[in-house]
Amino acid sequence: MLLADGGRAFVVPAAALVGLLIGSFLNVVVWRVPRGESIVSPPSACPRCGHPIRAYDNVPVVSWLVLRGRCRDCGAPISRRYPLVEGATGVLFALAAAWTGASWVLPALLYLVAIGIALALVDLDVHRLPDAIVLPSYPVAAALLTLASWNPGGASHWGSLLRAVIGSVVLLAAYLLMALIYPAGMGFGDVKLAGVLGLYLGWFGWWPVAVGFFAPFFLGGLFALGLVAARRAGRKSGVPFGPWMILGTWVGIAAGELIGHWYLGLL
Ligand SMILES: [Zn+2]
Repeated sequence: MLLADGGRAFVVPAAALVGLLIGSFLNVVVWRVPRGESIVSPPSACPRCGHPIRAYDNVPVVSWLVLRGRCRDCGAPISRRYPLVEGATGVLFALAAAWTGASWVLPALLYLVAIGIALALVDLDVHRLPDAIVLPSYPVAAALLTLASWNPGGASHWGSLLRAVIGSVVLLAAYLLMALIYPAGMGFGDVKLAGVLGLYLGWFGWWPVAVGFFAPFFLGGLFALGLVAARRAGRKSGVPFGPWMILGTWVGIAAGELIGHWYLGLL
């Protein structure tokens, strides 16, 4: 039934395949962007022996398994993070496609999955949210959400686009305020990312904006408490905030309305 409606029988496996390939590209982005290197050239090479990666050794997930996690030329270990990122991107692309079916909002969501994975990993690696990823995401997300609002072949919903702009401004302003009041806790990378996430949250509704705003603090706070309880970290541990913002945005998009109405029921 799920596969019979909304073109899912085609769009879910297609999204999974595209996701595997995009995941492979994200591995390149996550490695090169923080180092200020080009993401298109030179072609990938083994960091130890310098031998270029052959096309047939660059198949997502499969090549890593065939090579058993080692360079074909020098035997240097290849991090298991590469196949994990590829596989996770494929699964998340498929989940997004299963949720929306063949819909004009799907390209916007897949773009958010891709930059979310890249930004979360770079932030975990080097505690930065590079402008090279965040700033182009404003026009790209705006264009993709305009397409979703236009909804060719169906009813347009331009009100969602207006809400997206307002959501972006509201989140930008809120994060800017926090960064000015408490610069140690909030960086300007977070502020710039908040405007992109606000576009998405606003497009989906006011409850997603509210839930997407509070969820990162709630989730990050719970995680920090868990670390302290497990005596794994002091009160000031080095976990960056970007991954929580991205995770919180997905909670807002997927469950914002539900959480909002549950909250209203409590009052
Ligand atoms: Zn090698």
